[in-house]
Amino acid sequence: MGASYYFVAIFTSILHRPTIQLTRVFSVTSTLMNKHLSTTHINKGTLYVVATPIGNLSDISERQRSVLSQVDQIAAEDTRRTKHLLSHIGLTTPCFSFHEHNERQKLAKIVQLLQEGQSIALVSDAGTPLISDPGFPLVRELRAQNLPIVAVPGPCALVTALSISGLASDRFIFEGFLPPKSHARRGVFSELLQQTATAIFYESSHRILASLQDMATVFGDDRKLVIARELTKTFETVISGSANDIIQIMQNDPNQCKGEFVVMIDGASKKTSELTQASKDLAQQLALHMSTKQAAKITAEFSQQKKNLIYQFLLAESQSNNLSD
Ligand code: SAM
Repeated sequence: MGASYYFVAIFTSILHRPTIQLTRVFSVTSTLMNKHLSTTHINKGTLYVVATPIGNLSDISERQRSVLSQVDQIAAEDTRRTKHLLSHIGLTTPCFSFHEHNERQKLAKIVQLLQEGQSIALVSDAGTPLISDPGFPLVRELRAQNLPIVAVPGPCALVTALSISGLASDRFIFEGFLPPKSHARRGVFSELLQQTATAIFYESSHRILASLQDMATVFGDDRKLVIARELTKTFETVISGSANDIIQIMQNDPNQCKGEFVVMIDGASKKTSELTQASKDLAQQLALHMSTKQAAKITAEFSQQKKNLIYQFLLAESQSNNLSD
């Protein structure tokens, strides 16, 4: 408000004195804008949860930089990585380590520092803290004690990936990292057989192929996947297709297995979820005593619902039961 008022006042006053003052008005305006951007006010006794770039360091924002420059200390998942980021943006704010193995021990100390009036920034190695990263017990505790927490938002791999995936973004579920063991992974996928929202996972280079193989087992070729690799970095790649299509691409070009991945799975067709509970129950009961095809046919006759949909539902159910045995 102040800046625009100042701008209008100067602009009006120079209308009668054109060229000489024009340069001055632009430099005054840009100084005001820079001042506005670089002086985020920092409150005492506040935790700032600061997102950082997921690859491209130029994604750091003016407000993130301003907060990181003014807080008393930074709680960092890996102090070396944070110092690298800080040096890139010309800062030397003191850091201490705060990671999944010490966060519960450090929690009390951080609460004490905040109560003494220090301002602290929480950062992870990349992206938004707490999203598959440390910080949840700390934020939960501060909320419980009614202590101030301020978000300084920025990159997050799952949102970045979804925004360019071409998959439905109106409803999605984020499952974090997949379990390391194949059986458990298949269990997670089988629970998604009837999930109509887009499902999103994080995956690492050493497990991406094994996870895709489990997806191929559970989803067959019916479900579309999108894999976003190395987002915002030099080798950013987005590939899509069935799990088997993507396995083939990766086997033909092993470079596609390198780096960091966000895996997204298209939601199930809404059609099977349109079946009434009564027809699902009937079909399941009948399928205990006859073939899936016959059960679907008889249920369709009684329920007036489509035989194909009932058949698809029974297939998904039996796959999910086999996998959870
Ligand atoms: N807190 C981070 C966020 O906001 O996205 C996620 C941290 S989690 C420990 C790291 C995982 O996020 C990686 O294994 C990968 O699955 C995903 N990830 C992070 N950066 C990525 C990138 N540049 N491209 C693709 N996936 C990325």
